[in-house]
Amino acid sequence: VDPPASLVHALRTAVAEAPDRTCLTYFDARLSFREVDELSDSVAAYLAARGLERGDRVAVILQNSPHFVLALLGAWKAGATVVPVNPMYKSGEVSHVLRDAEAAALVCSQRAWESYLRDTAAGSPVRIVLTASELDFQTRDDPRVLTFERLPQAADAEDLVAVARQGGKAPEGRDPEPSDIALISYTSGTSGTPKGATNLHGNIMYNAERQRTGLALPDAPVYYALAPLFHITGMVCQLGACLTSVGTLVLTYRFEAGLVLEAFAEHRPQYTVGPSTAFMALAAHPDVTPEHFASFVNISSGGAPLPPALVEKFRAGFGPYIRNGYGLTECTAPCASVPPDLEAPVDPVSGTLAVGVPGPDGVVRIIDDRGEEVPFGEQGEIAVRGPQVVPGYWRRPEATAETFPDGELRTGDIGFMDPQGWLYVVDRKKDMINASGFKVWPREVEDVLYTHPAVREAAVVGIPDGYRGETVKAYISLRPGAATDPDDLALYCKERLAAYKYPRQVEILPDLPKTASGKILRRELRSRPQQD
Ligand code: ATP
Repeated sequence: VDPPASLVHALRTAVAEAPDRTCLTYFDARLSFREVDELSDSVAAYLAARGLERGDRVAVILQNSPHFVLALLGAWKAGATVVPVNPMYKSGEVSHVLRDAEAAALVCSQRAWESYLRDTAAGSPVRIVLTASELDFQTRDDPRVLTFERLPQAADAEDLVAVARQGGKAPEGRDPEPSDIALISYTSGTSGTPKGATNLHGNIMYNAERQRTGLALPDAPVYYALAPLFHITGMVCQLGACLTSVGTLVLTYRFEAGLVLEAFAEHRPQYTVGPSTAFMALAAHPDVTPEHFASFVNISSGGAPLPPALVEKFRAGFGPYIRNGYGLTECTAPCASVPPDLEAPVDPVSGTLAVGVPGPDGVVRIIDDRGEEVPFGEQGEIAVRGPQVVPGYWRRPEATAETFPDGELRTGDIGFMDPQGWLYVVDRKKDMINASGFKVWPREVEDVLYTHPAVREAAVVGIPDGYRGETVKAYISLRPGAATDPDDLALYCKERLAAYKYPRQVEILPDLPKTASGKILRRELRSRPQQD
């Protein structure tokens, strides 16, 4: 059977099948499939009435809440392309995105509109603004819902939920086609200013369908949205899988370990996916118990390296096995994952955990600088082809030609494949450290650091060095109550790694800088002033 043409089609099928089943939960609020359909119809009707045309862009800057889903589906039903923007983006970054994507409409929180987005949007192509309050959908004062204040509705914006409750039918003839651009997802990719990857509806549906069938979840599954919906992993593996499997998606605004554990206890989810840093934070929380994970059938980590030591610590401490998965925005989330009946092997030489096996139709190759495939076991750049790979970057023919020669995605990641078909990611090409001509891959050093009992998070970068060109430096955050010092950590690595690989410098920080999707920001660490 062909997958539905888009998530809008999947939603309609779900309404036909189980109209009253809960589609979304948000603290004490629940929205059924029928409600999500009706409310998003109304948003579509409003956007069309305000002159939004097929193919126009709607920027959405929201955390994980029902508003995000209503804005997304409403915009798609109006035939528009959605530009999900990370709410942590600063004004200059948002401004770049609004102009680059030529966004006609903007959906954001009231607070962000009042505090900086009104100024940011001034002079941009945005002419329709919908704002949302985090307190919408709350039927009582819920102490878990952070401490937001309801602001008065701005005169120069419309209230999203009021618009959604107005009623109205989605305009006729605007349903998305698989070849339409569903999302322009801004990503820094391998270099430079953020570029917009154009994820087609067909790309999303292909991967959502693979996710749905690959997870082997029971009927009416419950998903917990650990990954942000504005990131492609959250969009496809959580929302996409929820709509195509007629399941329930539990939303709790944003990642906060205590809140996540409460949601696990209350909703008993069977699946979630997040970056490895989220699992590190959960494992370090004082209240965590194995009972929190008892309902899970599957847990995946994706979008960032997964240290093998974390997988073992997690299994020993709480029961579940964390499945690795590898993907990029440019291939619409995972292109390799660990099948539910298998466990990822660890490469005996480097100690790296396999990221998974590539999907059946996505052709993953490991290539050399000339684009020729290298033998099993040999390192090279990971290249991906197939129905999930985007056609290119929004209005960037040169960057598209460079990153997608002949339609094949050059990921900028170095990896290798073993004869059994397992894919291993060594590191990002651009993160390689060159110490006196020796290649050091930060991941390998980080994996060793993660085996140290005191280490919560580790990031290894190359810093300039007058003698070696570059030298290896490790930044560490510690587990609560753990005691160690930089010399101990350096010595620990020295005993376990070749002499040129161990960190000559170790600095302990309270927390490591991360992207909103939870990845540790090595580039920010590289630009920190160095201690003497
Ligand atoms: P930005 O956050 O600015 O968009 P990004 O380049 O990290 O930047 P993504 O598309 O989210 O954007 O990330 C893809 C990258 O994440 C991959 O190229 C790879 O380097 C890394 N990655 C994803 N999954 C894994 C994994 N399982 N193991 C190791 N690295 C991974």
